[in-house]
Amino acid sequence: MRAVALAPQTPLREIIPAERAALFERELGLLSAYDLLTYFPYRYEDLTAPTPSNLLGGVLEGEENAAGTVISVKHQFLAGRARAKTTALLRDDAGAFTAVWFGRPYLRNQLREGMQIFVRGRVQRSFSGPQVNVSLHRVTRDGETYDGEVLPVYGQTARLPLKTIRAVIRKALPRLLEIPIDELPEDLQRKHALLPTREAYRAIHLPTRMSEALAARRRVIYGEFLGLALGAAIKRAQRAFTGGALPMSAPDDLMDELERQLPFALTGAQRRVIREMWGDMALPQAMNRLLQGDVGSGKTLVAAAAALLAHRAGAQAALMAPTEILARQHAAKLSTLLLPFGVPVEVVLGGQGAKARREALGHLVDGSASLAIGTHALLEDDVVFARLGLAIIDEQHKFGVQQRMRLRVKGYGGNLPHTLVMTATPIPRTLAQSLYADLDLSVIDELPPGRTPVRTRATTEDHKLDVWAFVRKQVERGRQAYVVTPSIGLDNGRKNGGEEESKAAIARATEVYDELTHQIFPDLRVGLLHGKMPAREKDEAMAAFTRNEVSVLVATTVVEVGVDVANASVMVILDAQRYGLAQLHQLRGRVGRGAATSFCILVAPDDHAESERLRVLERTADGFAIAEEDLRLRGTGDLRGTAQSGAANFKLANLVADFHLYAEAKADADAVVAADPQLERPEHNGLRHLLAAGETLQALVVSS
Ligand code: ADP
Ligand code: MG
Repeated sequence: MRAVALAPQTPLREIIPAERAALFERELGLLSAYDLLTYFPYRYEDLTAPTPSNLLGGVLEGEENAAGTVISVKHQFLAGRARAKTTALLRDDAGAFTAVWFGRPYLRNQLREGMQIFVRGRVQRSFSGPQVNVSLHRVTRDGETYDGEVLPVYGQTARLPLKTIRAVIRKALPRLLEIPIDELPEDLQRKHALLPTREAYRAIHLPTRMSEALAARRRVIYGEFLGLALGAAIKRAQRAFTGGALPMSAPDDLMDELERQLPFALTGAQRRVIREMWGDMALPQAMNRLLQGDVGSGKTLVAAAAALLAHRAGAQAALMAPTEILARQHAAKLSTLLLPFGVPVEVVLGGQGAKARREALGHLVDGSASLAIGTHALLEDDVVFARLGLAIIDEQHKFGVQQRMRLRVKGYGGNLPHTLVMTATPIPRTLAQSLYADLDLSVIDELPPGRTPVRTRATTEDHKLDVWAFVRKQVERGRQAYVVTPSIGLDNGRKNGGEEESKAAIARATEVYDELTHQIFPDLRVGLLHGKMPAREKDEAMAAFTRNEVSVLVATTVVEVGVDVANASVMVILDAQRYGLAQLHQLRGRVGRGAATSFCILVAPDDHAESERLRVLERTADGFAIAEEDLRLRGTGDLRGTAQSGAANFKLANLVADFHLYAEAKADADAVVAADPQLERPEHNGLRHLLAAGETLQALVVSS
């Protein structure tokens, strides 16, 4: 042991050779000692417990272990490719089996009759008994019994193979374990029979038994959950103290007045949600409400109801959307909805002309406009409101916590604006309550009447011509189609409010556009829409599609959110394997908005597991069920960025698979915070650090 403990932030190059460190940084994004320590294996190869030879070949997939004494060995060189083949006959207590190696000429000097060896590989059954195609073997010395080992499997890349990662971590681990690591309170450790922290970090990388690896994982997952749950509990405890807001109470007949001006009746769910929201807004405490509703469930109307109440209370409202296309569409819809109520609306966009912007900003600062609709351009310093009392954020997962907060600080007179965040990415309620601990939750769980579900098919790339033939048939019937191209670089795009797209994504969209225009549909009108086009061209492309001057619109995922063209009845999604199910469901929601039967075709490479995954969408149209399935398959997958900043950035935990452990951690966290709201007691030092260490605290500080 060295005298000085290792700081978690110690650069990797001080721990492993600089060249290696550079490779780990480039390939895996690992920068510090802590990063390497917490680069956890995602599974293990269990090389313990050999299967008795009479039972070998009992599994259909994967490798098996066997151990025995060498009875005879044969070395051959296969014709043609001079490939060495080694065959050994082995005996164990249950009988005999053969082991076969290819391309290992050195075995000639290694294997001897009478040796005890351990082998691992895929097993084939043959007339002469089971045959192990060896991927790995160990020779055991006289008198030694090989107990096997459990090998960690880490995420690898082409340039940084598993073997290197394993070797580097194994070697660095003693040093890494010098990082000061806090223990959990003893009573919690005992209650859940958890490994001590340092022991868990060792065992997760270098377990001697599978059971030890699992116990180590359990300890780490519990810690991740406890951090999240503590953050949530503290936020809840603090909510009573958050800033005041302008109370806006809705007159009894406002709901009727609203409904009278609509071309349709409100759904029961819309009415309930509007009541919940107006109830919050009537309080002198800032509303902080999350509105979840599937695509097409009518969230815009709820936003209109909020803006209407703010206007009546003499305050202003701002609605922020992630893309210009969507902001404009909101502006068009909301101005229409709110026109009968005399609510003046302004639009604030990045790509807007200087004059239009100056005018819009003038009306916001002098208070003559009641509702500002825009993109993150609303957050700029020169956007000043006279009396901002309500902030509405659409598709909030496209924005960071920081951006949301910047809108909140634009409140006036020491008040916070009431805040409504809307999302079409539904999260099962129990999870949502945990992840969005500082938000109240409203759910629209009912679609407006008369919707027919979108008929969905998953197909493979070799059927693309059939897909185009289908699109053509629909177009001949007067319908329109979206063709969505891969979202390469999508994640980069999210950081910037969704409007940045990678060059690769745009190149791909353009390539598909060219193919469709010149080869597939030379006689049809094909349009192109991507995030890097100038705002004016984007608008033109969208407008042409809306007017049905374009039959097939090739688009990157800029169409994902909110675009509403009733005559579009086909959605083709290329490279569907790149998206989470929830996101595919979102895209699918762009069609099925009119009377015609709509279709969604998911095109992916021919891969069994992938087809199975996509079939979930064939079977169900329930956004919540899909989100849950997505969570199960991808861990926090789509929740990254959905949740309060990094709150759900777990390294190991999966909110669905490990939910029982989450429930326990949450109960523990609630009890701890009830007894010690600020975590001031000495035995809670470790917990304070648990919060401070993760990104959880960052999210906490910014949002409270
Ligand atoms: P989303 O929740 O995806 O934002 P929108 O607010 O865009 O959904 O609504 C989808 C469509 O449903 C719009 O065309 C809207 O006019 C319509 N709509 C909303 N509420 C109702 C309702 N109560 N009855 C009938 N149609 C409705
Ligand atoms: Mg919407």
